[in-house]
Amino acid sequence: MKAAVLHNFHEPLRVDAVDLMEPQAGEVRVKLAASGVCHSDLHVVKGDLPMPTPLILGHEGAGVVDKIGPGVTTVQEGDHVVLSWVPYCGKCFFCEKQQYSACDNSNPAETADMSEKLYGYPMTGAFGYSHLTGGYAGGQAEYVRVPYSDVGPIVIPEGVEDEKVLFLSDILPTGWMAADNCEIDTPRDGAIGGEIDNPKRNAPRMSVAAHEAQLLQPEEHLVHRLR
Ligand SMILES: [Zn+2]
Ligand SMILES: [Zn+2]
Repeated sequence: MKAAVLHNFHEPLRVDAVDLMEPQAGEVRVKLAASGVCHSDLHVVKGDLPMPTPLILGHEGAGVVDKIGPGVTTVQEGDHVVLSWVPYCGKCFFCEKQQYSACDNSNPAETADMSEKLYGYPMTGAFGYSHLTGGYAGGQAEYVRVPYSDVGPIVIPEGVEDEKVLFLSDILPTGWMAADNCEIDTPRDGAIGGEIDNPKRNAPRMSVAAHEAQLLQPEEHLVHRLR
């Protein structure tokens, strides 16, 4: 398949022909129709996560299940799905509390321990986010292998466009959680700061959080720009 590959930090990605392992037990292969580019990808490109290359980045993806591995029961070939940017097992202590982004099993213990040294807490697995988060090849490619596919992918109805569900992978729930965690009970309860107008920074995530804050408290909102 073709994939955008990071070979060296601080250098542009290169589109290469690469091999992708067949889906193993509990996994599916998804043919991607839409894939996102997140500001977080820049952390990897800039070498903030000191892990070996080459890497296929990308943790937002939607497409069609192309092949299923042994034991997969909840999705079928041909299902239209949107992926969670964090693969999660669905069975561990945290997954049972629906705290999927803290899954104990999706990042091998060795790299989870390394991530704890860097961040202060162990990170879960994540697509396209270096070996520090499990070394999963990401979605900026024609295909992606999806572990724990009985619990992660969300099957979407036919007729819904990939671009419309793609942001369920990361940016929309990330922004929603930011707004929701603020517990906005009154119109003047919260503030979202950042360079909303700067596309090179966190502008999309900020904008999504701002819109979702308005959804949570629609009666009144104030936009202040500090310039
Ligand atoms: Zn992201
Ligand atoms: Zn888990």
